[in-house]
Amino acid sequence: MTRPAKVELDLGALRNNLQVVRKAAPAARVWSVVKANAYGHGLAHVWSTMRATDGFAMLNIEEAILLREAGWKGPVLMLEGFFSADELPLFDQYRLTTSVHSNWQLKALAEARLKAPLDIYLKINSGMNRLGFAPSRVAVIYQQLRRISNVGEITLMAHFADADKPDGVDQAMTRIELAAGEIDAPRSLANSAATLWHPHTQHQWVRPGIILYGASPSGNWQDIANTGLKPVMTFNSAIIGVQNLMPGERVGYGSRFQAPREMRIGIVAAGYADGYPRCAPDSTPVAVEGVMSGTVGMVSMDMLAVDLTPCPQAGIGSPVELWGNLVKIDAVAQAAGTVGYELMCAKAPRVPVVVKH
Ligand SMILES: *Cc1c(COP(=O)(O)O)cnc(C)c1O
Repeated sequence: MTRPAKVELDLGALRNNLQVVRKAAPAARVWSVVKANAYGHGLAHVWSTMRATDGFAMLNIEEAILLREAGWKGPVLMLEGFFSADELPLFDQYRLTTSVHSNWQLKALAEARLKAPLDIYLKINSGMNRLGFAPSRVAVIYQQLRRISNVGEITLMAHFADADKPDGVDQAMTRIELAAGEIDAPRSLANSAATLWHPHTQHQWVRPGIILYGASPSGNWQDIANTGLKPVMTFNSAIIGVQNLMPGERVGYGSRFQAPREMRIGIVAAGYADGYPRCAPDSTPVAVEGVMSGTVGMVSMDMLAVDLTPCPQAGIGSPVELWGNLVKIDAVAQAAGTVGYELMCAKAPRVPVVVKH
């Protein structure tokens, strides 16, 4: 038997989730965000299932080239644009839409020798203070871009810091309106949270990421429980050892967990080197043979321990779901003090992927 840790990708769920986005934003076109190797799912595994999308958004040029060489002819948006002027010939060759967020990029665009103009996403700093132009400068930048012959269509772009909160887009929208002023250009503002919860931000193009993969932008599964979204990634393994503990006996590095009574525990072939969070506390949810239980003790590099009390029939070989349909990735992330995004992206290369079509 090979090591049982594996990730299963449910491409049916991915198709379903794209439909959920279409229903949520019926008038908008959809950039499917596939940065970070499609949030850890593997761009090569998922992109053809997502070809019903209107475009793909990412930030590594290698991922954009992979899509073009696989035959994707539709729009490709580079969310952080070109990182240096010498990338522009590739943007030209592969026909990539580029975000423009800094002054030096205007100069680089003006001086480049391109076969044809590139479409531009002009990035407004809506208050997050990562990338983008201050609202008061946007009109001038827009006029400068319009005069560059290498610049094709210009779309106004912004990104929300707090779209998972009820009033979370209000201040940003004020800044965006101020920036947009009289500019007559399409807009792309909404991430997953804004697409679901602030439909007035949808405009011409939405940019969902996390909801395509079936996790919650807020970090709380309950917030998307009624949307019809389904988890795409399941992280499974199995029990490879069993221990019977006497009261007071301890488990794992640092002896963090101490058995309060006699108990059976199972040792699961999955650890932080597979992408399971090391900081997961005792009682982080897991499912053993489909029965909910919790972890005990510190997560090791290659193993973790689970309480077998709720499932006395379980033993060596019993399947364990670390996250997926029963154990929501959001619940594991919440226990570990992070978000589903980080757990997906942390899926280690050593974990084999099984694709369910
Ligand atoms: C990652 C990202 C998105 C998608 O965010 P989600 O919260 O996953 O929907 C959209 N726009 C930009 C600029 C991003 O960096």
